[in-house]
Amino acid sequence: MKKIASFTVNHCALLPGVYVSRVDYAGAEPVTTFDIRITRPNEELPMNTGTIHAIEHLGATWLRSREEIAHRVIYFGPMGCRTGFYLILAGAYVSSDIVPLLKEMYADIAAFSEKTIPGATPFECGNYRDMDLEGAKTYASYFRRYVLEHIGQDRLNYPSAGQPQETCRIESASALASPSGRV
Ligand SMILES: [Zn+2]
Repeated sequence: MKKIASFTVNHCALLPGVYVSRVDYAGAEPVTTFDIRITRPNEELPMNTGTIHAIEHLGATWLRSREEIAHRVIYFGPMGCRTGFYLILAGAYVSSDIVPLLKEMYADIAAFSEKTIPGATPFECGNYRDMDLEGAKTYASYFRRYVLEHIGQDRLNYPSAGQPQETCRIESASALASPSGRV
């Protein structure tokens, strides 16, 4: 099988941030896939499934409710590694283009005060019980305040390959730090 582009990103040097994963063309139309990286790969605890699931529901609903962007949203959903999300928008963008939008989105998720998460019913969702609203609000708050608020170039552009792959080792899973500890 071919090695796909996202597996060539040096995850050892990848910080929480906002990146353009790729720009594809659907016919003549560009389509941008963003890598919205919430936790540091292999260094910080990834989001639990209830947290990432709740952010998926809240974020997708938020994006499709915003008139200025809704018509460009193709997809918003979680990465399998549970360290972030992919957002796919119609159009060609750089990562900084969507930072103001993401600031608003994650601020609104952090402040979400309703008791029920949109779409969290057995009719609408395939695993509606697996929702952690408090976790979603904590991670959204952390991401907005500590990553988006003063985001710099090192969190807007993928790191260069830089180091040989063999030097990229993580000691043990017990070394994982909780990002929510920084909130
Ligand atoms: Zn669901």
